[in-house]
Amino acid sequence: MTLNSPEAELSELLRQTREQLTYFQELGVTGVEPARVAPLIESQLSSSAPASSLPSRSQPSDSLFDSTKPAELLTQSETLEQIWAELKDCTRCPLHEGRTHVVNTEGNPRARLMFVGEAPGADEDAQARPFVGKAGQLLTKIIEAIGFKREEVLIGNVNRCRPPANRAPMPDEAATCKPFLLREIAAVQPEVIVVLGNTAMKNLLDTRIGITRLRGEFQDFKGIKVMPTFHPAYLLRDPSKKRETWEDLKKVRDYLDSTAKRTK
Ligand code: URA
Repeated sequence: MTLNSPEAELSELLRQTREQLTYFQELGVTGVEPARVAPLIESQLSSSAPASSLPSRSQPSDSLFDSTKPAELLTQSETLEQIWAELKDCTRCPLHEGRTHVVNTEGNPRARLMFVGEAPGADEDAQARPFVGKAGQLLTKIIEAIGFKREEVLIGNVNRCRPPANRAPMPDEAATCKPFLLREIAAVQPEVIVVLGNTAMKNLLDTRIGITRLRGEFQDFKGIKVMPTFHPAYLLRDPSKKRETWEDLKKVRDYLDSTAKRTK
């Protein structure tokens, strides 16, 4: 392999580091988990490299976190129940005024796979459960199509209160609620997060790039793979997009199959 630029060299170095860590894990070494350690090594390498020699990142920035404390997300210091207890009767943003229920994330606290949407709609607000309306039924079918049961995965939203007339959450509303989603991600540490639609993707990945450009390509978020794809409500409006969504979800299925094999 020719390494004709500092960028290529750095990315080859990272690839080798990941490979080596995976090899250690396969040997049964405990305490070294590639998905979690790699971002730490990556951030160390980037901070010691001159800015001009850093790879140009198509990946979104992870500025949702204090970059001086990369390990913070990776600490499983609390349970989902502890996080939800703080959201009971939440009045942190104006969306509380129109809600019936706070709609928390639901599912398996040891999920390998998480889905993140935008905010609850009318059905979710009434039942206090995410993705239970028409879009939710389609999401359940999608989950089953890749070999999971709904209760095996984790399903949540950036915002937990229904916005008026189902509008997208405002940036300040999303910013108020998002830390709880991030704490849930830290508590569960899924291997893959599927972000559904533009709002979820932009909020989680802190990017301005649109879903049509990023969908179908794994993004990195603190060592967790993130797959952006279309929101099921959009698929209901434009069923021709189901084919692309299926392609995206097959990548998720194949990745999870491959990591399950590696850890067997
Ligand atoms: N749309 C979302 O983004 N989330 C839900 O929970 C339901 C519909």
